[in-house]
Amino acid sequence: MKKTVAFSKNAANVFFHILTKCNLACRHCYINPDQHGKQTLDLDTIKAWLEPFAGRGRKANVIFLGGEPTLHPDLAEAIRYARTLGYASVTVDTNGYLFNNILDKVTPREVDYFSFSLDGATAATNDRLRGTGCWQRCVEGIQAAVNKGFATSLIYTVSRANASELERMPAVLKKLGIRRFFIQVIGLRGRSAAGGLEDFAGKSPQLTQAEWLDLVPPVAEEAADIGITVTYPKVFLDPGEKFECAGLVADNYFIFPNGRVYRCPLCEDFPMHSLAFEAGRLVNAGRLNENDFFSLNIPEGCVMNRLIQPENIAYDPDGATVARVACCLLKEEIRPR
Ligand code: SF4
Ligand code: SF4
Repeated sequence: MKKTVAFSKNAANVFFHILTKCNLACRHCYINPDQHGKQTLDLDTIKAWLEPFAGRGRKANVIFLGGEPTLHPDLAEAIRYARTLGYASVTVDTNGYLFNNILDKVTPREVDYFSFSLDGATAATNDRLRGTGCWQRCVEGIQAAVNKGFATSLIYTVSRANASELERMPAVLKKLGIRRFFIQVIGLRGRSAAGGLEDFAGKSPQLTQAEWLDLVPPVAEEAADIGITVTYPKVFLDPGEKFECAGLVADNYFIFPNGRVYRCPLCEDFPMHSLAFEAGRLVNAGRLNENDFFSLNIPEGCVMNRLIQPENIAYDPDGATVARVACCLLKEEIRPR
């Protein structure tokens, strides 16, 4: 059953980058040390920064990210502390190398999902983007997690460099025992904004609306048919569909180790964060910031997309927008029947 997942107004989602260090150097990595810092947060700071988002009379979910979060020696403690604060779910996003024996230090009761990143159905395509040997290591990491009883999900970031292999992914997911599949759009941030991906004869690494609609929904249906829940961004609104900006109506926080806290991931490559941790306290950041843009009402839909990725928007000969761009956080979800 397919449904558009409305922004959750009753839960805070905390995307917590506890460090930016990583063992890989993926060509499309969105981490930008100039904007996000190079620190590894100590455990006390992680605990202190988890606190403001929990226990406010609503659910909170935390996703630990990096860099590679399993490089952090205290990740297991951070996970347990999130649980004691009452976080409703804990997810760890990983490139699959699973450092510091993390699978031996936490239990499936403490971690809802280990979420692995794979960007190709084959080692050749994945490793061209993520580095030699990554596909095999990631697959081994998934197998180790599944064998220990952890629920696993997989993130596939679609770009012109790997779109041709997306159709092969349902079979790969089934073989690996993956429960949830997240299909993402390549963001033009970090290294991909700086030309890290190959040149596609002048085309954007992002698929056009027609290419996206031809490819992604059918693959999602196929994966759902074999028992996997699939989530992918809506990207373009249907005619007449209401536009909403998650920065205004949802409760998402993207925390970086230099203390910046964003409400919109499209803003992360710029010093536009609306909140910041300063001296241990969460405070409003100076203006102008992302908040000043969220309420701008433009015919193209998402204002940050218009500013940062204008090549995504198609206009008809009269200059009218062909399809409004949805908030990047608006998702379609297909559950197994
Ligand atoms: S995309 Fe993830 S795994 Fe790859 S270099 Fe960036 S942080 Fe590391
Ligand atoms: S992606 Fe666009 S619509 Fe979504 S939060 Fe950011 S500015 Fe708002």
